[in-house]
Amino acid sequence: MLEKIAVYPGTFDPVTLGHLDIVERAIPIFDRVIVAVAKDTGGKPTLFSIEERIQMLKDVTMNYPKTEVHGFSGLLITYVKEVNACTILRGLRAISDFEHEFQMASINKRLNSSVETLFMMTNESYFFLSSSSVKEIAALGCNLKGFVPELVEKQIKKKLF
Ligand code: ADP
Repeated sequence: MLEKIAVYPGTFDPVTLGHLDIVERAIPIFDRVIVAVAKDTGGKPTLFSIEERIQMLKDVTMNYPKTEVHGFSGLLITYVKEVNACTILRGLRAISDFEHEFQMASINKRLNSSVETLFMMTNESYFFLSSSSVKEIAALGCNLKGFVPELVEKQIKKKLF
């Protein structure tokens, strides 16, 4: 039988507990979950390089079954077909995520109708959590416990201070 592979794409600058919650919940649904870290960020500057973002994700998902972390560049839908995935996985937080996600999902459906986009509602504990808020909080010298894995907190502090 064909493997059910999900691609979970994002910038992951850096990975948060909200991201990991989505990966953990996807594992029982799919045969493989590929966390795909975007090399192209549309000109948006990142705190961490692509190599650093990938390495942090690899470290924090080391003990997850069926999970791989890779970088990708170019069109997401092309990458999804390259790795034989059937699903694009995205997390949804507030309603503010919706419009952009709806647009992306519609475009991807138009580009390749055999690939579905699946949205998972955020866990309520991570409703307000985003990589950018984590960076802002960190820059103010606050504790990141409950927002990011310990290893990531160390990396952010090393980068900022
Ligand atoms: P992008 O720049 O593509 O939005 P992100 O790294 O910000 O990349 O997010 C990757 C995915 O993870 C997106 O689908 C986003 O909605 C989701 N996500 C981000 N933060 C959370 C969270 N706290 N809970 C659930 N999903 C989240």
